[in-house]
Amino acid sequence: MVRSVRVARARPVIVWFRDDLRLSDHPALHEAASRGAPVVGLFIRDEASSALRPRAARPLGGATRWWLAQSLRALRKSLEAIGGTLVLRTGPAASVIATLARDIHVGAVFWNDIAQAPHQAIAADVESALASDGIDSQIFPGDLLVEPRAIRNKDNRGLRVFTPFWRRVQALGDPPKPLPAPKKLTPVSGVASEPVDDWDLEPTRPDWAGGLRDTWTPGEAAAQTRLKAFLDENISGYSDDRDRPGRDGTSRLSPHLRFGEISPRQVWYAARFAAAEQPRLAGDIDKFLSELGWREFCRHLLFDVPDMADRNLQAQFDAFPWKRDARAFKAWQRGLTGYPIVDAGMRELWHSGVMHNRVRMVVASFLVKHLLIDWRAGEQWFWDTLVDADAGSNPANWQWVAGSGADAAPYFRVFNPILQGEKFDPEGAYVRRWVPELAQLPNDLLHQPWTATPIELASAGVELGKTYPQPIVDHKQGRERALAAYAKIRRKD
Ligand code: FAD
Repeated sequence: MVRSVRVARARPVIVWFRDDLRLSDHPALHEAASRGAPVVGLFIRDEASSALRPRAARPLGGATRWWLAQSLRALRKSLEAIGGTLVLRTGPAASVIATLARDIHVGAVFWNDIAQAPHQAIAADVESALASDGIDSQIFPGDLLVEPRAIRNKDNRGLRVFTPFWRRVQALGDPPKPLPAPKKLTPVSGVASEPVDDWDLEPTRPDWAGGLRDTWTPGEAAAQTRLKAFLDENISGYSDDRDRPGRDGTSRLSPHLRFGEISPRQVWYAARFAAAEQPRLAGDIDKFLSELGWREFCRHLLFDVPDMADRNLQAQFDAFPWKRDARAFKAWQRGLTGYPIVDAGMRELWHSGVMHNRVRMVVASFLVKHLLIDWRAGEQWFWDTLVDADAGSNPANWQWVAGSGADAAPYFRVFNPILQGEKFDPEGAYVRRWVPELAQLPNDLLHQPWTATPIELASAGVELGKTYPQPIVDHKQGRERALAAYAKIRRKD
């Protein structure tokens, strides 16, 4: 009784959602709900303040725009199910929030931090706009296991090598326990919202999102189901299976993590719990958590290097003799390079908005080394087509493959697309799925169809140059050309 009087009198709290489209383990929402105040969930389409900044937040690519639309619908449903609401507005965040705050007489605005320069700059504007109106704002950690400022070297810089970084994270012990989702929210009625359909986030003409719809269910509930299914059914053998693109051997949580439909702390605790229940899984779970560590590492790097998608982390690569080759780039984008594992990966990406991690490394290496095309072009294509396109993980991994990054693979290590295919897709399940025109070839020819005799090709229904391309570059020559290009920048260095 006493509580409901307090609620009736409390001024509303705005919870500003960004890349944290979930109800559970959402510190800002949790705090708002536990105050008993009426809660307005708010999501802002803010292309204006991003565009104005020198270190702009990147506009979303096509696949992430599609994901965002589905995820917002799922979030609205979950909020409404507990009595809350989700308001969508367009404009610069500071003025949208200040206007809404005045209109509905809010007491405070809460949000979770995103430790990325453009997001923090926009949030700082919001904070000062609210402060000048005398409105309280509170910011909570919620996107990472460990905040970047907690892991610094002697020079107060973030760590550039993964293994010591991950050791430091682990030495800090378990992160704070995930928070439960609020059971009930007190709504604020009559707050106008833009319809998500008006935001043009989904493709129409042409509607290329059929493969994404077939592959994914965005939203928090699906993320939780996915995590549970992975830990129940697929974690055993993860350390090896994670390298086998033909198997369902990884969690497929990356887009859910990208949009904060699930938090890394929730993944951490669920995995630790599974390891405690079944000690024989400990090795696989440690490996899985270390992959989550790579996400963390990439985000910490981004905190220190906000322009990581534009700039080589190793400056010697500024002089690298990249080639402009529009035809080769197009063949790579379309999965028509003549190398089956590369083409399978690029077609998986186009259809489903993701690509297996092992194959991401192979296709990226092929672009950068065999074709000598600047890693930034590949990174941008991934940014447009991946549903998990992440401002930290995407450029960090591209730079890792290119050799220009932090803790990078050495440039002279050139992935051999034939051996990679034979080693990691030995039964050809992955290539046969995504390059069906080669499906009838036997395993020993599948990853190098150009070595087949005319009879072997004919009996598999393959006509090289017609039904499937000849390799656009010879592997050996491509490799030697890449090493020669690298030698040039080493000499300059
Ligand atoms: P799991 O093996 O189940 O791993 C669990 C989680 O750990 C993932 O969901 C992801 O959040 C994280 N993770 C795993 N590997 C990495 C890694 N190498 N770097 C950072 N985090 C990792 N991942 C993205 O989330 N977004 C990207 O934009 C992205 N771009 C990439 C570009 C290239 C060139 C390469 C080589 C890798 C890229 N990755 C990216 C990393 C990795 O390929 C994906 O995270 C992984 O394939 C997602 O599948 P999963 O969720 O089943 O992974």
